[in-house]
Amino acid sequence: MSSSQLDHFRQMLLNWKQELMEEVDRTMHHMQEDAANYADPSDRATQEEEFSLELRTRDRERKLIKKIDKTLDNIDRDDYGFCESCGVEIGIRRLEARPTATQCIDCKTLAEIKERQTGI
Ligand SMILES: [Zn+2]
Repeated sequence: MSSSQLDHFRQMLLNWKQELMEEVDRTMHHMQEDAANYADPSDRATQEEEFSLELRTRDRERKLIKKIDKTLDNIDRDDYGFCESCGVEIGIRRLEARPTATQCIDCKTLAEIKERQTGI
C-alpha cells in the first residue's frame, strides 16, 4: 500500500475514533443528568432499561475504539491491510468499507461459516 493510501486510512480511522469518543462523552453526560430525575418507580424502570441499552452500546463503542487504536498501530508499523489468517492483501475496496478489517473476505467468510456451524 502506498504512503498516501496509508495516510488516507489513518485519517479515516482518526475521524471515526473522534466521532465515537464524542458519542461516548455525550451519553455519559446525558446519563449523569438524567440519573436523579425520576421519582416514579415505573419511570425508573424504563430509565434503567434505557441505561443498560446505552451501556451495551458504549461497551461496543469502547471495543471499537480499541480496535481502531490497534489498526492505527498497524498502520504506523507499516503492517496494515494484510489478512491476519493467510497474509494476503485485504484489498482497498474492502478496507474502504471496513477500515478495521483484519481478515481478507475469504478468511472472513470461512470464519463466519465455522462460527455458524459451532452454533454461537
Ligand atoms: Zn485471508
